[in-house]
Amino acid sequence: MGKRGKAASGKSANKQHVEVIARSRPLNKKELAEGCTQYCVTPGPDKGHSAAVRLDVEAGPDAPGIPGAAGTVQSYHFNVDRAFYEDENNGDVYEYLGGRVLDRVFGGYHACLLAYGQTGSGKTHTILGDKGDPGIIPRLSQEIFARIAESNTETDVVVEMVEIYGKEERMSDLLSDSRWGSDTQLKLRQQDPTSFYVQGTRTYQPADSAQMDAFVQAGVEKRSVAETQMNHQSSRSHSILTISIRQHLASGTLREGKIRLVDLAGSENLERSGAEGKHADEAIAINSSLSVLRRVLDALAEKKEHVPFRDSVLTKLLAESLTGNCMTTIITTVSPAKSNAAESK
Ligand code: ADP
Repeated sequence: MGKRGKAASGKSANKQHVEVIARSRPLNKKELAEGCTQYCVTPGPDKGHSAAVRLDVEAGPDAPGIPGAAGTVQSYHFNVDRAFYEDENNGDVYEYLGGRVLDRVFGGYHACLLAYGQTGSGKTHTILGDKGDPGIIPRLSQEIFARIAESNTETDVVVEMVEIYGKEERMSDLLSDSRWGSDTQLKLRQQDPTSFYVQGTRTYQPADSAQMDAFVQAGVEKRSVAETQMNHQSSRSHSILTISIRQHLASGTLREGKIRLVDLAGSENLERSGAEGKHADEAIAINSSLSVLRRVLDALAEKKEHVPFRDSVLTKLLAESLTGNCMTTIITTVSPAKSNAAESK
């Protein structure tokens, strides 16, 4: 149970299935320039669909932070629902989960996708992607409006985008018109034990996928402006895009499903990064917020009675998306470079 009072939990939380995807990216230029040729993340016996991912961690100069004699290799095995390797692109990831997410959300349920991993491991690439290989958000956006065009049900799509950053886990509105300032600071209000909502966010109703992408892009840009003005880095904040699909059914009822797409701040090994001062404070705050999230996800996966949602702003905000009939997917992104093995582990 969390220190700040009774943990918000409910019987519904116990039904939760958390799906875990591991994604290893290609070696980048820096890693190749460092002479890293060998991947330390290897598929299990039946690549991709297998539940096993092997991570070989070699001690010594190649893998700082791993105690032991240089050259000693230790293998760690992780069980995941699906693993994607360096030769698979965002289209492959989307194909695996996009349709299922939208089936749930158009059915009136919630879905939550969390990208989790070390800075530079591929979270933003997976969530947003680029022109050559669009990520999950632009692909979802396309398919949402394609499904609406094919249906006879009047449907509204509503988007909002917030960021959580810093020691106090402050929240700001990434779609607010105003410049970065106090009016973009938001408050979290409680509705019931596992439901909190952000008060005062700007919401938008894009008419098509191009508009939706433009809103998301505006949020991403605001995040990078804020980063400079507030002297924090985007990799040091969590960004959360919420897409609500509201269908006005012929029976007169409103059916609403929500997708939350969370680009989590990168975890950091302080000893290894040598972070100091403000940067170290931010890294500690992020690591602690991520460890609350880990505890919540563990409690859900282990079907524990108490789930410590209340221990962080991030988990309070996600509580509604992580309980009940929500489809929750964690995409853990890892660098395959030996030099990052300590963090990948
Ligand atoms: P993060 O969000 O975890 O800090 P990024 O998504 O920004 O990391 O990725 C860092 C760099 O690696 C970017 O230049 C990105 O384009 C590239 N990258 C990440 N994942 C992949 C991938 N699966 N395939 C190709 N390039 C990738």
